[in-house]
Amino acid sequence: MNDESKTPVVPCPQCGKRLYWTSDNPWRPFCSKRCRTLDLGAWADESHRIAGEPAMDDASLDELMNRIERGD
Ligand SMILES: [Zn+2]
Repeated sequence: MNDESKTPVVPCPQCGKRLYWTSDNPWRPFCSKRCRTLDLGAWADESHRIAGEPAMDDASLDELMNRIERGD
């Protein structure tokens, strides 16, 4: 059996990397947890922008990931 030919390949909305849309990929439609978090971070930044806040760095990204995992 060769199911691979039936697996949709979609570009990651965040980085454009092609990925297989399978149940093996928990981050779909993103290629990775990082891309999903970056996309969510961009959305959160638009919604809750604080004047003078610096751009999100890796430390804030880790914090955001932790908040997501806690379900805040
Ligand atoms: Zn990506």
